[in-house]
Amino acid sequence: MISIPPVTLNDGTAFPQLGLGTYNLRGEDGVAAMVAAIEGGYRLLDSAVNYENESEVGEAVRASGIRDELLVTTKVPGRDHGYDETIASARGSLERLGLERIDLYLIHWPNPSVDRYVDTFRAMVDLQKDGLVGSVGVSNFTEPMLARVIDETGVVPAVNQVELHPYFPQAALRAFHTSQGIRTESWSPLARRSELLAEPVLADIAGAHGVTPTQVVLRWHVQLSSTPIPKSADPARQRENADVFGFTLADDEVAALSALERGRLWDGDPDTHEEM
Ligand code: NAP
Repeated sequence: MISIPPVTLNDGTAFPQLGLGTYNLRGEDGVAAMVAAIEGGYRLLDSAVNYENESEVGEAVRASGIRDELLVTTKVPGRDHGYDETIASARGSLERLGLERIDLYLIHWPNPSVDRYVDTFRAMVDLQKDGLVGSVGVSNFTEPMLARVIDETGVVPAVNQVELHPYFPQAALRAFHTSQGIRTESWSPLARRSELLAEPVLADIAGAHGVTPTQVVLRWHVQLSSTPIPKSADPARQRENADVFGFTLADDEVAALSALERGRLWDGDPDTHEEM
């Protein structure tokens, strides 16, 4: 079993430096994949109402027998923005998860045209006070959106989960996170197995360290102080993905990966892309 070292969030929570994405992990096979990941050392699971797999996540957590060691993430969908709607949404998630607490609760997308993400966040902070939520955070927030939430609620989100991979390294946003004490989390950290993994520079660096191109990419996230949440249904690939704490990339290798920058891959600009 691989030991994934934690960092400390701004609310004191010990937070793994790498977690498991669960998009498309559903049904019995999904539960089995999550159980395998937990047995392999994963302690952070990333779900969302819109992944329609909260009940599978809860089942895997209960099957693991180590509930207290796990951090379960779920996210408020756009259709549930607003104070009362968010309280109701959290209760629905808790029921589907079959757990007593959501360990990390995120706003899935800011949906600025709806303009209810501040009230949504206020409700999450109250859920945290009531013990139903561990850490409160956001996803797909830009710097001005983060600044507004902090200004209007007085609470700094613990995490901002954003699209991040060598094609879209998000240097300015990461610097803002660091300045505010917000932990960065990388979604689609492998660029969803696009042509990224076949980039020649990855093969060169992987060869130099005796690791795989995938491990080089995930190690790059770790060294940028971002927690990647690669999704894999396959136990062998899950193990490969988690095994990135035994080598270190040189600064010029980190820079060579960041130089692959070309922008977002899926047109998910939070100022214009909205999800319900
Ligand atoms: P990803 O993790 O970058 O890539 C997943 C793909 O890579 C799958 O097809 C997987 O296939 C494959 N893969 C995984 N490990 C591999 C390896 N070692 N070698 C070769 N292929 C490998 O993409 P993602 O699922 O889009 O993102 C990860 C997680 O981020 C999601 O599952 C979700 O939890 C979260 N997410 C959040 C948002 C948001 O708006 N907040 C948006 C997108 C995603 P196999 O399963 O067959 O291994």
